[in-house]
Amino acid sequence: MSHYIPYGRQSISEEDIKTVVDVLRSDFLTQGPVVPEFEKSVCTYTGASYGVAVNSATSALHIACLALGVGAGDVVWTSPISFVASSNCALYCGAEVDFVDINPDTFNMCPAELERRCELAKKQNKLPKVVIPVHMAGQSCDMEKIHSLSKKYGFKIIEDASHSIGGKYKGKAIGCCDYSDITVFSFHPVKIITTAEGGLATTNDLSLFKKMSILRTHGITRDESLMSENHGPWYYEQVDLGFNYRMTEMQAALGLSQMKRLDSFIVERHRSASQYNLHLNSLNLKIPSQDDKCYSAYHLYIIRVPERSFVFNKLRGENIGANVHYIPIPLQPYYKNRYGSLTEIPNAINYYRHAISLPMFSDLSDAEQGRVIEVLKCSLQ
Ligand SMILES: *Cc1c(COP(=O)(O)O)cnc(C)c1O
Repeated sequence: MSHYIPYGRQSISEEDIKTVVDVLRSDFLTQGPVVPEFEKSVCTYTGASYGVAVNSATSALHIACLALGVGAGDVVWTSPISFVASSNCALYCGAEVDFVDINPDTFNMCPAELERRCELAKKQNKLPKVVIPVHMAGQSCDMEKIHSLSKKYGFKIIEDASHSIGGKYKGKAIGCCDYSDITVFSFHPVKIITTAEGGLATTNDLSLFKKMSILRTHGITRDESLMSENHGPWYYEQVDLGFNYRMTEMQAALGLSQMKRLDSFIVERHRSASQYNLHLNSLNLKIPSQDDKCYSAYHLYIIRVPERSFVFNKLRGENIGANVHYIPIPLQPYYKNRYGSLTEIPNAINYYRHAISLPMFSDLSDAEQGRVIEVLKCSLQ
């Protein structure tokens, strides 16, 4: 049997390893100089003013919601085709969630549907406080449209860009926050760059930056302008109820080293996507469609096939780690128990019947990709 090909995997160079080992020999394993350096490097890359590195994108989504004031009585809307963290973050804050259906071609939240739902919600006085569009597979949502709806209906925007560091929208880096309040990245090993576990929130708003920085570390500040008393140079103050969501120095060092490789990772992913497009185009399946305004980070390469189980089992049978991203969040038992069966997401349900994620990562070799393509040719002819 040929070796196992996962759907996604990290790429770790000798330089990455050396950068982490250097930190292990240094004075600080946490709360040292490397985390701010990593934050600066992501800000320089994206063009955002501020960055807050944390221990996961899930943590970043949580403190992003809190910084925007999400709490009991509020509603947050996100995409049904995402990882559960995109909606769990609102529940952590005591808010409720609802799901806006996807565009069947891009798998991203559909702006026309968002507008329709806002019109309805306005009449019922139930407009969302925050909308969390997810840049599915690495391709940006139609942020200009979503941003204009946010002005019309008064909601805030957190971009869940867990799939899409290195991607662009209208020529600018995803994460610049031109069309949102906060953007969140994930650095889990299957994502574009990795810190093992890790996440980061970018923003151009100084007060959101300060709130997230405090929430990352127990709600504690040493910034005198935020304190109500000062007992001396040792003094710090807990001004909010925060968490220990800090990233370690080793993680930040790995992230910093990976940032240097980010553009080459994206080039490799585009090369693999072009290979798939070329060889799969004539088969009985749908290849992912790309919007002119977007340059995808290609976290995932998602095809849609008529008979999903058949093709999926063929791939798995050949030791190819095909996957499905995602089971619609509202179909998860926890969500079904909480909200009942939702009827307003027909495109998401239909997408879920047909979608398969093929292996896609920067070190995917031509031979490995050839194997994937062969299996698809055999099972779809
Ligand atoms: C991976 C992922 C997350 C969670 O990221 P972690 O860093 O593992 O917490 C959130 N949203 C989306 C869309 C993801 O793909």
